[in-house]
Amino acid sequence: MGKVYLVGAGPGDPELLTLKAARILASADVVLHDALVTPQVLALVSPKARVIDVGKRCGQKLLTQDEINAYLVHAAAHSEVVVRLKSGDPLIFGRAGEEIEALRGAGVDFEIVPGITSAVAAAAAARISLTDRRFASQVLFTTAHRKGGTFDLGWARTISADMTVAIYMPGVAYAELANALVENGVDPQTPCVVVSRAAQASQQVFHTDVAGLASLGGIGAPALLIVGRVAHSDAESMAADVWRQLRDNAEPDTQQIT
Ligand code: SAH
Repeated sequence: MGKVYLVGAGPGDPELLTLKAARILASADVVLHDALVTPQVLALVSPKARVIDVGKRCGQKLLTQDEINAYLVHAAAHSEVVVRLKSGDPLIFGRAGEEIEALRGAGVDFEIVPGITSAVAAAAAARISLTDRRFASQVLFTTAHRKGGTFDLGWARTISADMTVAIYMPGVAYAELANALVENGVDPQTPCVVVSRAAQASQQVFHTDVAGLASLGGIGAPALLIVGRVAHSDAESMAADVWRQLRDNAEPDTQQIT
């Protein structure tokens, strides 16, 4: 019986892999990877390994989740080092829950190797602190989930001004997403940043606000959207204003920092 490693591939740059991930990839017998794993990371896989792309392409799954689960169990019975390689961190929006359950159920030994999740990579690309204490005390990792074709952003009703929201899988319909955020109570002036292909050669960073999201187009996938005061392109001068007002014993003008 072999062992299955659920490995985080990070956002794309192979230098952002953990040493452990790189070592396991170099000794892998079988690698099942998602479509978002970059060729630069796949280049570190042992040449002797069988490499299978199980990712989604244009909404069409190459393998169903059940097939992936079954394949992992099967591969562990025939190979020593089986790697399930997922973009970012395997435990964040990566369907690892089902795979863990299948491996446990089949009595297969497994280990999880964390990776840098794209919210964190996007913050680094935009050079913002997700928990800049002057603006935010909480971070929400969520998705732009759709239900029956329309956005289902119930979570947006529960967020507060001191929260940073990292939205995975924002899709391409930014105007519709901006409307849905506003309909769910998000201030249209809330700063946001869209980071396309964080930590990849074609990385792009777009600063705007929720209202301005509507005019964004042609953003390359994958992209991640960060909403909240920390996403302001000029957070430093905003903070200087806040500190100045505190120093002058005045109440900070929240209008100015939203
Ligand atoms: N497990 C992954 C998330 C998988 S869901 C993680 O921890 O990051 C897929 C979503 O992740 C994409 O739709 C996109 O929102 C985001 N994503 C993945 N790689 C990215 C990258 N390099 N830059 C920006 N967003 C990325």
